[in-house]
Amino acid sequence: MSQIQLLSMDFDGTLVRHWASPTYPDELVRLLHQLRRNGVFLAFNTGRTIRLVEEALQVTGFPVRPDFALTSEREVFRWNGSLWEDYGEWNSRCREEHDSLFANCAALLVQIERHLESTTAARLHYDENRFSGVVSTTNAEMDEICRFIETKRFEFPDFAYQRNSIYLRFCHLAYNKGTALAELQRLIGIPSEATFAAGDNFNDLPMLNLTFARFLACPSNALEEVKATVRNQGGFVASQDSGFGICEALRYFFPNLP
Ligand SMILES: [Mg+2]
Repeated sequence: MSQIQLLSMDFDGTLVRHWASPTYPDELVRLLHQLRRNGVFLAFNTGRTIRLVEEALQVTGFPVRPDFALTSEREVFRWNGSLWEDYGEWNSRCREEHDSLFANCAALLVQIERHLESTTAARLHYDENRFSGVVSTTNAEMDEICRFIETKRFEFPDFAYQRNSIYLRFCHLAYNKGTALAELQRLIGIPSEATFAAGDNFNDLPMLNLTFARFLACPSNALEEVKATVRNQGGFVASQDSGFGICEALRYFFPNLP
């Protein structure tokens, strides 16, 4: 039997697809239920906020509620049986560090804001009046936006961002899907050697790393950068998309699953 004890799963494009029906295969639900009966923990590791994780479960009807939700590419929540709660001190520390970051990077954020407003059709995103991210109109436009930010951010070493196709969120360099996963591993006492991670987009790259997960996979719809990252570390690149590909990956890493 595999020694995997923790699954770190991106949700959109990895467990479920929004471009075809069915959204996810019944087999995926069966495999996840079986693994959890065997004591394997399930974490969604997503760019969604915790509120949007709940919305995703309802809208897609995905019937497997995870034990943990790593949200906004940086926060760590635990399901306590009736609601999501902060797990440990990580989220409050994360909020404090982001408050400092946004204060220290105010000049940079103004530059980005002005540039986007004058040269793109992108929609700027604000969280409690704080300029916190961008939604572009196309992937090519987001490529350009990232290039612009790269030319400006060298003076702000803690400033980084997470990109998921046309969505981009500013963040502290120390916070991403990889470091959030490491915190969960620390809290539950499961090492990277016993962790599986799967994702499909840029924001998944930090967790698709042997530092955080010994077992890596991606579905066929993953970006070429993601496939190369997984392949170069001995991971599994599925031949099918989204949850169909994840079924392949689970069967590959858990060959004894019924
Ligand atoms: Mg995704």
